[in-house]
Amino acid sequence: MRPIRRGDRGPAVTEIRAVLVGLSLLPAGGPPGADEFEAETERAVRTFQQDRGLSVDGQVGPETWRALDAARWRLGARTLYQAIPDPLIGEDVRTLQERLLEMGYDVGRADGIYGARTSRAVAQFQREVGLGPDGACGPQTMNALRRLGRKVVGGRPQWLRESDAFRQSGPNLVGKVIVIDPGHDPFDPGFVVQDGPLRWTEADLAYDLAARLEGRLAAAGMRVHLTRGPAPAAPLTDLTRADLANELGGDLLISLHIDGHANPEADGVATYHYGTSNGVTSTVGERLAGLVQREIVARTGLRDCHIHAKTWELLRLTRMPAVRVDVGYLTSPSDLARLTDPRFRDATVDAIVAAVQRMYFPVEEDVPTGSIDVSELRAVVAAGASLD
Ligand SMILES: [Zn+2]
Repeated sequence: MRPIRRGDRGPAVTEIRAVLVGLSLLPAGGPPGADEFEAETERAVRTFQQDRGLSVDGQVGPETWRALDAARWRLGARTLYQAIPDPLIGEDVRTLQERLLEMGYDVGRADGIYGARTSRAVAQFQREVGLGPDGACGPQTMNALRRLGRKVVGGRPQWLRESDAFRQSGPNLVGKVIVIDPGHDPFDPGFVVQDGPLRWTEADLAYDLAARLEGRLAAAGMRVHLTRGPAPAAPLTDLTRADLANELGGDLLISLHIDGHANPEADGVATYHYGTSNGVTSTVGERLAGLVQREIVARTGLRDCHIHAKTWELLRLTRMPAVRVDVGYLTSPSDLARLTDPRFRDATVDAIVAAVQRMYFPVEEDVPTGSIDVSELRAVVAAGASLD
């Protein structure tokens, strides 16, 4: 087959143009006599080729033709499954793979081919959202992917849309729902340190922080839920915690942990938000993580171990912006001395309250780190006044 190129006209050109319009590489409608392969079409073909890693010559030979043909499929237009021996190929497969990659599933490369690895990743996703893990992507799985779309976002425009939603909900904390997740439980206490007669566990300290935070946020007018009490009857998995937070309809989730390490020199605070390490994903959680991290560092003097993107279940399966903060190292003598001081725990909690409040300030009205007086916040609510 001779490549279709500039100057050609006919039904094949019309078809090529239709696919390019569908990909938003050509404006809809097009000039009169849209069966002509003119300069604009050639430019669009070049962009398409560059995008797909094809050799860029502006002509539609067999390889480019196959790629354009695959590009017709929009995700959701057909059920996807692992077909043997001829796998399904298409733009819809590629979109699905990119979405799974963003959510932290291993599909290898987003190559647009529905192979065994993609099928396994879909099955894993299905298991985690409570669907039958058949590895095929039909309407139910599509719905589950769409539901998660609110949480998993693929770029700056989406990030801005999400922060718009925050902006529109107003700076007042009253009535907003926050879920606080004290990490671990007595069955799995996390890090444990024996300090003379005293036994400090991550589970107990996380619960103490959570209870203090609950009091502060409730005083500021928020509706606060904890994922567990001080001594739950059964162990709690992160999956259970995520389900609970979703059922409660939380606007935000904050999970509290204390870190530990074999090396007693390791110390500091780190905050985690949902995202993949290749940086494809960004969420409002990243902003919350940044605020929590900066406020804690400023108000407690803990070493800044920065924020990190993780695909942990608790962060991935919760539908609201969610962060986990590891407040210091239980295994560091200096961090332990701080953690066992109630004043330090109060300062940590004040830092988190300030971060939550700043989440709801419009970005352009944000205030410097460390500047919010949390007791003032309480007084305003107590006086029945609105903060805006
Ligand atoms: Zn932990």
